[in-house]
Amino acid sequence: NIFAANNKAVALADRLGNDKVINATVGSILDEDGNLVVLDVVQEEYKKLTPRQYSSYAPIQGYAEYLDDCIDQCFGESRPAGYIRACSTPGGTGVLHHAVHNYSEIGDEILITDWHWGAYDSVIKDNNRKIRTFSIINKEGHFDLDDFRIQLNDLVSKQKNTIILLNGIANNPTGYCMTVAEWQAAVDAIRAAVENTDKNVILVPDVAYLDYSGEKKECRKFFKAFGNLPKNILVIVAYTLSKGFTLYGQRMGAMIGITSDEGVAKEFVDINQYSSRATWSNCNSAPQQAMIAICRDPAKIEKLDEERKFYFEMIQQRANIFMKEADELGIKYVPYISGFFITIPMEGAQAVCDKLQEDNIFMVPLKKGIRLAVCSVSKKKMQGLCDEHDLVYRFEKDRYPIIFTIKPVQGMDAQISMLENVEEV
Ligand code: PLP
Repeated sequence: NIFAANNKAVALADRLGNDKVINATVGSILDEDGNLVVLDVVQEEYKKLTPRQYSSYAPIQGYAEYLDDCIDQCFGESRPAGYIRACSTPGGTGVLHHAVHNYSEIGDEILITDWHWGAYDSVIKDNNRKIRTFSIINKEGHFDLDDFRIQLNDLVSKQKNTIILLNGIANNPTGYCMTVAEWQAAVDAIRAAVENTDKNVILVPDVAYLDYSGEKKECRKFFKAFGNLPKNILVIVAYTLSKGFTLYGQRMGAMIGITSDEGVAKEFVDINQYSSRATWSNCNSAPQQAMIAICRDPAKIEKLDEERKFYFEMIQQRANIFMKEADELGIKYVPYISGFFITIPMEGAQAVCDKLQEDNIFMVPLKKGIRLAVCSVSKKKMQGLCDEHDLVYRFEKDRYPIIFTIKPVQGMDAQISMLENVEEV
């Protein structure tokens, strides 16, 4: 869905001009002129790489300095207590794959949130596992600890190993962020679930959007909750350079294991290296070397932080424009705190997205809503996106009664359509 809608939007923008198309499908940061952002400090280090640096085979586990840098960049000042080990992966997706593949049995259910990135389904199903969901947000707009506990306890009672993929900060597709207290409560629930049992829980915090989830130190505080856990709880952080270093296509990340047990830590490196050899073999050398060059120089880290802060704030400003207008109009969206996406919950999202495309507006239809990429729509285009009733979609459904209003951008040769009830389309 995402790539198909994006391809259409790009082709149309080539034909009509960028200003005539709103492409809110892309999960990459675009600047205010619609160009892909690649951080300057990253570009500079890439240009300096020697042929040997970018062409040599990297070690299967990854360059040692790279792995240390991933751990530092990920945790910052909030390094959890315990044995911490890392293995390189092609992006966050590689982490999800290895976690599911190596820490569960065929046929096991993997616990994920109801609102989740579509690739979770593919990774789980492709490995012949099943999906179990819990609701991420309760009716009060907070982390749904009750449902988390219910589903977790049920799975622990049935399976030897329970894996939880938890994209709990700057969640894709909602932008929801768990607080430190909510992470702590989730960890406490896991502790309670496995206490005095021979069962294991593998918690995989997916922090793909970490660097755009809040102030640098503040947004990392929750990592401390993963320290000093019993041996039968393994935390595997899914870390990626895709967003934080704007290196999406370079396919680079790391799985970072945190455990109180030295044996579990050793096994983590052994089995995941083995699976890497059997799956993709070595990872890309170039982004590892570029990251090493940046992270070994405090001045470059400072530049990196400044650039990230700039784009974090730009995305927040775009989201604020949307939310202000939506609030004024009573348009409901899933509680957004930070990250690349906002979700407008509704039934019949595909039909609505098809209709929006007639007005050169491209968004991603999900099962229970529409995903709007605030990372890729400029402030100018965001302004007025929902401030008038040129297009009105009404939905009175379940937990999220919604009126969705979108106005085509000024100057666009857009056809104005009215749609009262999407079920009739
Ligand atoms: N997790 C989530 C929720 C994502 O949205 C993404 C990227 O879109 C990733 C992980 C990691 O992607 P990649 O494999 O490109 O690093």
